[in-house]
Amino acid sequence: MRKFLCAGNWKMYLGPLAAKHFGDELRTALLEKGEMERAVREGAMELALMPPFVSITSLRQALGDLPVALGAQNCHGEVQGAFTGEISAPMLSEVGCDYVIIGHSERRHVFGEQDDVMAKKIRAVLTEGMTPVFCVGELLLERDKGETLSVLERQMRAVLPHVTAQEMSTRLVVAYEPVWAIGTGKVASENDAQEACRYLRGLVAAAGGVEAGDQVRVLYGGSVKPENASGLARQADIDGFLVGGASLKPESFLGIARAALA
Ligand code: PEP
Repeated sequence: MRKFLCAGNWKMYLGPLAAKHFGDELRTALLEKGEMERAVREGAMELALMPPFVSITSLRQALGDLPVALGAQNCHGEVQGAFTGEISAPMLSEVGCDYVIIGHSERRHVFGEQDDVMAKKIRAVLTEGMTPVFCVGELLLERDKGETLSVLERQMRAVLPHVTAQEMSTRLVVAYEPVWAIGTGKVASENDAQEACRYLRGLVAAAGGVEAGDQVRVLYGGSVKPENASGLARQADIDGFLVGGASLKPESFLGIARAALA
């Protein structure tokens, strides 16, 4: 059984103080509406939040023993070195991260990260015992040219040879995030999202075997909101969401998780 993962990418929003307020509010909301806390504690759903680096510790303190995992939005592939402005995987592990997003479209398209750095980052995350959330997705132009599947294949081919079948089964998370749907309010149709996620699962199966394909979690990301979450969550190959804007308020983040459970 693949556990549904609802993960929030805060991007460059919510500093340490705002993260503390968020954590306090999330605690109140989770405890008031006991059914969500129970679902998470009983393993029906997993919640994770990826704040900016400087907010990780304050969010962790505010969340206390709430069953919410923490993650980061990026890391460097080396353990340490003269890489001004970068953060390494061991540093993220030390502050309590379980997840690290790799290859987010904003890293690829705003900061120019290419396919060739992804494998090293993923290896760094896996080596530290954390879980990479590897993002792939096509630009609108690529979609219009009918290149969606070949783009996904190219992006996956850059990393799959560097991940063992066992890691694919137990740790790897892939997030299908069509670039045209991120932060635009334009969500992929349920059918298109399902088809892309199914295709990604097939690529993992081809690289790591049937079990890896069955077990790997594939998320959808791109303008997920409480209003569109339940139809997407019902798709056979969608095992969770990577949520940007709607994860910045406890109410909408939990609204998405609740809609997915319904
Ligand atoms: C994201 O940042 O990964 C994302 C999917 O953003 P949004 O939900 O705002 O589209």
